[in-house]
Amino acid sequence: MARNVADFARKDCNGCEVCGDICPAGAVSFVPDELTGFMYPAVDAGKCTACGLCVRHCPQNSPVRRENVFPEAEVWAMWSNDDGTRLLCTSGGIFRELGRKAVSLGGAVVACSYTEDFRGAYHTIALTEDELVPLCGSKYVQSSTEGIYRRVRGLLGEYTPVLFVGTPCQVAGLYSFLGDDPDNLITADFICNSINSPKSQAKYIEYLEDEYGARCVFSRAKDKRHGWNNFGSSAKFANGKEYYAPRNEDARVVAYHSGHLFIRDSCLGCQYKTLPRNADITLADFWGIEPDERNPKLELGTSAVMANSKKGADFLAALGESVSGYRKTLADVLRGNGNLTHNVTRSNRSMEAFRALDTMRFDRVVDRYRTRPGLLQRVKSRIRRVIKRLTGRG
Ligand SMILES: Cc1cc2nc3c(=O)[nH]c(=O)nc-3n(C[C@H](O)[C@H](O)[C@H](O)COP(=O)(O)OP(=O)(O)OC[C@H]3O[C@@H](n4cnc5c(N)ncnc54)[C@H](O)[C@@H]3O)c2cc1C
Ligand code: SF4
Ligand code: SF4
Ligand code: SF4
Repeated sequence: MARNVADFARKDCNGCEVCGDICPAGAVSFVPDELTGFMYPAVDAGKCTACGLCVRHCPQNSPVRRENVFPEAEVWAMWSNDDGTRLLCTSGGIFRELGRKAVSLGGAVVACSYTEDFRGAYHTIALTEDELVPLCGSKYVQSSTEGIYRRVRGLLGEYTPVLFVGTPCQVAGLYSFLGDDPDNLITADFICNSINSPKSQAKYIEYLEDEYGARCVFSRAKDKRHGWNNFGSSAKFANGKEYYAPRNEDARVVAYHSGHLFIRDSCLGCQYKTLPRNADITLADFWGIEPDERNPKLELGTSAVMANSKKGADFLAALGESVSGYRKTLADVLRGNGNLTHNVTRSNRSMEAFRALDTMRFDRVVDRYRTRPGLLQRVKSRIRRVIKRLTGRG
């Protein structure tokens, strides 16, 4: 029986950082793993009283399954009616509309922002529409949540609603921390492929800064200037220069999609990629959705939205005229998005790639260690591309 979280195997720790917030003795801190840069808990044995709280509230050790969720989610194809919001956000901009609704009701939003230097991400609080802007858009690096669960508990006493958005494991962590499902808490997660290490994000930004000769002042992981199905990545630098690369040429995207080189061990056996979900609402890209006359600007991005609970369905209904959409089924989502229920695999050269980041530039590491498709795979994707073109879905 584990005495405290330091006894858990690292491969099982998802990095939600709940154990730090729950510890009454302040005995838990988070330390980056030397090779991967992912954060893991370290326990100060001198402070630990062996109360067992961290073990009981760890969502990996005591899996969280909410009871008051629908057996099967209500599913929508949905998008914001504000084109700027669709472009700013990753899929259909539903996160921003949920956030706007929450702050317009006098509530608070807790979600993920980049750090000032774009080398990492963290969860923070927005109380106004302006404060929501940096929280929009997917950051594919693991966010720091140290202290956020305690702050959410505080907000729940002051604000209605409190909207918390994060990975499925962070949402599970929040419920585990609270041990409760307060009426004024609304949670949203997303279909989660996996999460990248802060070390790889830092090395990516370092490489771009080296290439462009100045500090990075803006980064967008998914830039939709050439369309949602044809996204790229972009960045801006202090000397006014700008970077844009299509997704198959951006080293960070290639590392993610060609071998998952820099993802966390726990993502290989994620217990929160399952149905029914814990969050009130699940957001995703509606990959593979057919063109439909009700959605003439499909290429600005379209969200798959799952209302997993009555609370979630009511909050989505309250978005009213700010969004449009129509009903779909879970099977429609699963067709284009296996990550809803299935774990990804990682290249067996991942640890070598992590080590190489210590001595080589990010783009060169990715070029050396990325997984390259075999002949059969190349033929299959060419056929898929041709079919898409012929059916007008590409
Ligand atoms: C790591 C990651 C993996 C994903 N994998 C998939 C996938 O496999 N399939 C799919 O369809 N969709 C995936 N998504 C979700 C998708 O990219 C969109 O975030 C989602 O569709 C919501 O889009 P939106 O337009 O409504 O709002 P957006 O503005 O794009 O949503 C942003 C919200 O996501 C949260 N967020 C962003 N980055 C992080 C982070 N690093 N950690 C925790 N929360 C974060 C923010 O708190 C913010 O609330 C993933 C997102 C992330 C961050
Ligand atoms: S057992 Fe209790 S005191 Fe020790 S680290 Fe865990 S929560 Fe803190
Ligand atoms: S999964 Fe979360 S609570 Fe459990 S040990 Fe890891 S960081 Fe701590
Ligand atoms: S795949 Fe699972 S463990 Fe990994 S970040 Fe997503 S929810 Fe957490």
